[in-house]
Amino acid sequence: MALWSTRGGIKAGERLLGEVPLLLGPAPSSASPEQLAGVETLSRLRFDALTKPQQDKLLALSDAYRQNDNDKPSLMGVILSNQLPAGVGPGGSSAMGGLFELLCRAQHSCAPNCEYSFNTSLGRGVLHAIRSIGANEELTICYLSSAPRLTFEQRQEALQLGFRFRCACAVCTRAQQDEEFRDASDRRRTRIAALWEQLDDVDAARVPLDSLALTKEMRTVMAQEGFGHASSIVGRMHFRLFQICICHRALLSLARASLAACVSAYTLARGKDCDALIAGGYAALLDKPDAHPDFACLDDEQRVPKGTDAEALARELTVEVAAAAEATSTASSQPEPRAGEAAQAGAGAQ
Ligand SMILES: [Zn+2]
Repeated sequence: MALWSTRGGIKAGERLLGEVPLLLGPAPSSASPEQLAGVETLSRLRFDALTKPQQDKLLALSDAYRQNDNDKPSLMGVILSNQLPAGVGPGGSSAMGGLFELLCRAQHSCAPNCEYSFNTSLGRGVLHAIRSIGANEELTICYLSSAPRLTFEQRQEALQLGFRFRCACAVCTRAQQDEEFRDASDRRRTRIAALWEQLDDVDAARVPLDSLALTKEMRTVMAQEGFGHASSIVGRMHFRLFQICICHRALLSLARASLAACVSAYTLARGKDCDALIAGGYAALLDKPDAHPDFACLDDEQRVPKGTDAEALARELTVEVAAAAEATSTASSQPEPRAGEAAQAGAGAQ
């Protein structure tokens, strides 16, 4: 199964699908038999309440947990093979998962051309192009949020463990055929992991200008690995830079520029109505970044070197981010030939 674009000229930031889940239920957070049994009981009740055509659509999804190819798909096998994140349950207590007739057909890629997210206000799973896509190209998403930080072998292990397949995406296929490419790609992804760890460190706010350099390098390396500006990972990275800069009154303009980069990346990858921007408050914060509770909290430590021209750094960041966004919007995705059934759906279907 796969999902394909049905028209050309798709630009980064376009919403290609918005789909109500056929089945919404708790996402198994562990493989413990008790928890899986609980998920199965609840999911079975919800499945039984569906119409026959809806049930048929669900059971037409793949089941990677079948013992052999002739077995009928089981509800639990379909859930474990296909469930996509779908927000949180009542009271915010548990993660929910959704099964979708179309969205669940999007295959994984370690350098995808689309991003999936769940939009709580719409109650729909949404699919956004994160770079330019031509007609009849396969639409791919990344099943592992950690993929940009994992080497070829680490990704294979994680996908085998979580989804029971070996990845044959364009990046992995090339990595398997070309040792030099694999080494270079592995080095870049290992570097992304190291940079992310440094940026995420609680003490990163005490060396704000180092953090600025880290994000600059990460932006470059991630782009080389196929993660352009239109990506929630890039959005999170710039939000982290905002959190670091906002601790210093002298860096307010740089904090604002970081937040603007964050909002721009999320808008392209998930839409301006996405959870992070609306429920997460990022969009509102852009109007008044100094309302953030950490504003100027590290001023006493004087961590910003005297003579730092924050306005100039902010302008530089804005120009770099605009260039990254431009590069993303013109980057073509790599067609990924793949055997298998093509879903008669895709860009512009809704
Ligand atoms: Zn791959």
